[in-house]
Amino acid sequence: MPPRTPAAPDTFVDPHSRIAHHPRQAWLSALRRWFDTSATTSSGNEHDGERIDWLRALPFAGMHAACLLVLWVGVSWFAVTACIALYAIRMFAITAFYHRYFSHRTFHASRPIQFVFALIGAASVQRGPLWWAAHHRRHHRHADTPDDPHSPRQGFWRSHAGWFLTRDGFRTDWSRIPDLAKYPELRWLDRFDTLVPLLLAAALYALGEALAAWAPMFGTNGPQLLVWGFFVSTVVLFHATVTINSLAHRFGRRRFATRDDSRNNAWLAVITFGEGWHNNHHFFPGSARQGFYWWEVDLTWYGLRLMAALGLVSGLKPVPAWVFEHARTDAAP
Ligand SMILES: [Zn+2]
Ligand SMILES: [Zn+2]
Repeated sequence: MPPRTPAAPDTFVDPHSRIAHHPRQAWLSALRRWFDTSATTSSGNEHDGERIDWLRALPFAGMHAACLLVLWVGVSWFAVTACIALYAIRMFAITAFYHRYFSHRTFHASRPIQFVFALIGAASVQRGPLWWAAHHRRHHRHADTPDDPHSPRQGFWRSHAGWFLTRDGFRTDWSRIPDLAKYPELRWLDRFDTLVPLLLAAALYALGEALAAWAPMFGTNGPQLLVWGFFVSTVVLFHATVTINSLAHRFGRRRFATRDDSRNNAWLAVITFGEGWHNNHHFFPGSARQGFYWWEVDLTWYGLRLMAALGLVSGLKPVPAWVFEHARTDAAP
């Protein structure tokens, strides 16, 4: 049994990793990984890591297919409102916490606040905060080089969705997140990353059935609330999030001549609550703010300002004066 506690933060290894070599064993392990990410597989072929893991991808495809059930369950104002509200709260958790807090440490939060927003982020079906931050840190370090996990230079679909369906994309690289891996509750969320989404789905179904029985004026029911609140909301949330990997490295303006292809794109900033100011962010990732000017709408930044005013977070890192000076004098044409 490998040690559960790291000897030093930067030598942390996945404490649960096991290798399954027999094909049948590997197949069963792959199924187990739907629920417990510590069950790893290896065919012994070092090139397998870049291929799509189709068994792993089945639930991802199933989430998309389940959206078609809207034709069967119908629609109500309540279900559409739940869909939009769950998009908004989970997008905020992804942008403010998975990205600006866990990946870039651009503000401070207490351990309970850190965990609550890690939980909401985990409900987005974008896996645990450790996995998310490890891949994102690799992206910044190697943006648009062959070591970038999701550069559009490797093809649009690869950068949008293909990258995380590979075996390499599935792994959490513990060496990139020693500061986060020391929290057992975050490691637990990372290991059982389908648990929170399953609980959300079950809660939506139960709420819908309760409303159908006791408050029929809302015109909803379990299946309808499950399909709109979970499947449709989550799939739209996913595709909006990953436009930053695919479209925001292709379409938009470049204020800063960064070494990568990142762009500032106002449309993407609207749907991702501020993440579309991606060229700003690649130039200076250390700020809690990504829209650098008042006209660069950054809903996540406004939300973080509100949370800071309420005393829930603190130490929001600003954009330094030299960055504005650089933008004024040396910006890319
Ligand atoms: Zn990027
Ligand atoms: Zn980033």
